Amino acid sequence: MGAVDKIKLQNRRVFYRIHWCDAPAFSPENAYSLPWGMWQWVNTSCDFCDPDSPSPDCLLCSGTGKITPLEGYSCCNSMTDLVRYFDDGGRVGLFECIRSGAGKVYAFTADWINPRRGPDGEPLVVPGDFVLELSLEDVEAILEAEEEGEL
Ligand SMILES: [Zn+2]
Repeated sequence: MGAVDKIKLQNRRVFYRIHWCDAPAFSPENAYSLPWGMWQWVNTSCDFCDPDSPSPDCLLCSGTGKITPLEGYSCCNSMTDLVRYFDDGGRVGLFECIRSGAGKVYAFTADWINPRRGPDGEPLVVPGDFVLELSLEDVEAILEAEEEGEL
């Protein structure tokens, strides 16, 4: 069975994420989000707000001036969104990430969805019981199925 059919079978919301190979393994226990390119947050100053007067409303530091992780992986609601996300903002393209082996793409259901959103407005999700690692061919098939309104 192909990835598209496996996702259809879920009959519930499926999320998509690219997970860097040098980050801690993709798992519910490791499902924390940090700003782009960060794996660790120990004593890292928040650069989302003014370090001299951190804002209590700051998503990343809540006014402490130090970054705290948000529970849940940053992810997208569709593969189309994920590709768009990686094409925006000077980020390296999704296909290039997979081809170079720098990252793996996962489709997964949610065990828990954080009511807060990530730094780019994306959902923050703890993976549930369905986790599927996708090949480049799977990604292309999913994009096509989304374009045709099948997913
Ligand atoms: Zn801050």
